[in-house]
Amino acid sequence: MQGISMRNHSGRRRRVLAVAALAALVAAAVVSCVTEPETGRRRLILTSMSQEASLGQQSWTELTQSQPLSRDQVKTAAVQRVGTALSQVVKQSGFEWEFKCFASDEMNAFCLPGGKVGVYEGLFKAFANDAEMAKVGVYEGLFKAFANDAEMAAVVGHEIAHATARHGGERMTYAMAVGLAGLGLNMALDSKASENRELWMAAYAGVTTVGVILPYSRVHEYEADEIGALYMARAGYDPRAAVAFWEKFAASKSGAAVPELLSTHPVDANRVARLKQVMPRALAEYEKAPQRRGLGVVY
Ligand SMILES: [Zn+2]
Repeated sequence: MQGISMRNHSGRRRRVLAVAALAALVAAAVVSCVTEPETGRRRLILTSMSQEASLGQQSWTELTQSQPLSRDQVKTAAVQRVGTALSQVVKQSGFEWEFKCFASDEMNAFCLPGGKVGVYEGLFKAFANDAEMAKVGVYEGLFKAFANDAEMAAVVGHEIAHATARHGGERMTYAMAVGLAGLGLNMALDSKASENRELWMAAYAGVTTVGVILPYSRVHEYEADEIGALYMARAGYDPRAAVAFWEKFAASKSGAAVPELLSTHPVDANRVARLKQVMPRALAEYEKAPQRRGLGVVY
């Protein structure tokens, strides 16, 4: 008898909790539907910036322990020079910037939530010779992936924009919603605070693999391009270098080997067209920049 009464009580409590938690989720959704300051896009983010930064820090620690740093002082200095110039124009707080160049042939770069930026050596030497270009289907002449600081600023600015626009948090929120639906409401809403963290960890694991971000959506790519162009312009780099850089990749897409940068940040003709639309605003920012560097150091 007592057992039945306890079960009933537990059932009522569960329903009350479920309603309360649902109400809290709806309230959080209303409060958390925040506007991206540069583009004005409204989006739902249920993670806090400190949660995102702490997950980013965890990935950064794992990554720096497993991935050797570049010994190339020129590349390392370039990553730090360009990264520092860009971080100085970011107005949001809550970022503790670090810039590292990793010894890897991978052609990619990333910025984790909280401001940890990695650039792989592979981005410097990609497309260094005809044979490599032929592999990716580019025959238009010799060029490197990065011809100058401004092109690196385009990539690093784009990566930083993914972080400052909190695309990771937005994707985690989405993954969390999917996870909640999968788990069923009762189980999810009964979870204690410590279990919530595990849910977020699972959601986070869904969007990253040891810090390497899985492909972004088109909306996020366009937004990161737009904000990244503004950042590079404010940091004094000619934003037209971003168009030049992504056009090189758009041209290489027909080839068999797709560089990692394209698999995580897909380029299509629309993306370059959208970036060109942003140019008037970016050039206006460039004109106002306290120090104009043009293309910066040319490699
Ligand atoms: Zn991207």
